[in-house]
Amino acid sequence: MNILISGGAGFVGSHLCDRYLAEGNRVLAVDNFITGQKDNIEHLVGRTDFRFIEHDVSTPLFLDEKIDRILHFASPASPVDYLLLPIQTLKVGSLGTHNMLGLARAKGARFLLASTSEVYGDPEIHPQREDYWGNVNPIGVRGVYDEAKRFAEAMVMAYHRHHGMETRIVRIFNTYGDRMRLDDGRVLPNFMGQALRGDPLTIYGDGKQTRSFCHVSDLVDGIVRLMESDTPFPVNIGNPSEITILQFAEEILELSGSKSKLDFKPLPQDDPKIRQPDITRARQILGWEPKVSRRDGLARTLEHFRKRLACV
Ligand code: NAD
Ligand code: UDP
Repeated sequence: MNILISGGAGFVGSHLCDRYLAEGNRVLAVDNFITGQKDNIEHLVGRTDFRFIEHDVSTPLFLDEKIDRILHFASPASPVDYLLLPIQTLKVGSLGTHNMLGLARAKGARFLLASTSEVYGDPEIHPQREDYWGNVNPIGVRGVYDEAKRFAEAMVMAYHRHHGMETRIVRIFNTYGDRMRLDDGRVLPNFMGQALRGDPLTIYGDGKQTRSFCHVSDLVDGIVRLMESDTPFPVNIGNPSEITILQFAEEILELSGSKSKLDFKPLPQDDPKIRQPDITRARQILGWEPKVSRRDGLARTLEHFRKRLACV
């Protein structure tokens, strides 16, 4: 198949490129590098089954070739990134999704949207099931990301219902692994970078807020299964193993053998207090569940960051 991946030079997008190429498909990655990195796809450049187009998908994209699948992953994803890029985040979630859906419709391609656990906001239901409508502050600082993704989901469902298009929506929970930017501001690269440098680990708030971390290899497997399934409704993909941010810091200190101290900082506005995916739907419809334990995944990721820091 011919697979188009917007955001293909990003953390998750580049792993998707690898996976689809490994399965014998042709991949076209589209990215404007606003938060992605050339390094993530450097190993693919020159392959005859891989092509890259530098383009902002918030503006229309016209292509001559046949496209069978579009995965729309373009969007700043880290809170630090989307707070710095509020308008671009709103545009890629709305205009970008519209453009990618329009392209999919013109090509008769199946479309998959990268949505997020952030559609649940600061949740009042725990763990979060797909039928929960969420608790989002539309005018808060995180609203630029959360509402863009909620709008994107609504747009995808409208194209499915109105145009009869084949569409999929994945709600991704916190995912980690190789190729995250060390400076993207998310908790894992922050803690690992700080631990490896011997700097204090920055805990926001009292550290009692929870997250559930999924290794990128498990996420990619869930996405590929979802794309080939027949459900147009959102599916949570994440690892239900929940942990407080304080425990997470302690795990990283232990794994890295670092003597770094903890430094408590103010909690950012609207930071969700709890987060854990209910993955019953993914288990039932996709036969999917995560395989990589947090300990193994963190150890692998730490080695990647260690090598990267040794090179700078
Ligand atoms: P990332 O920042 O590494 O990747 C996003 C990519 O999109 C980058 O390469 C960036 O340059 C590109 N991009 C952004 N705006 C663009 C535009 N207008 N035109 C073209 N390219 C553009 O982030 P990521 O973690 O890989 O996230 C990928 C997708 O998955 C995002 O849509 C994000 O919302 C979603 N997601 C990720 C997570 C996670 O934990 N990683 C969780 C929930 C949802
Ligand atoms: N966090 C933290 N220290 C950091 C970065 C993040 O304590 O250096 C916290 C943040 O406040 C949030 C959690 O870790 O409660 C996860 O943050 P992240 O930015 O990774 O993503 P989120 O899940 O909030 O989108």
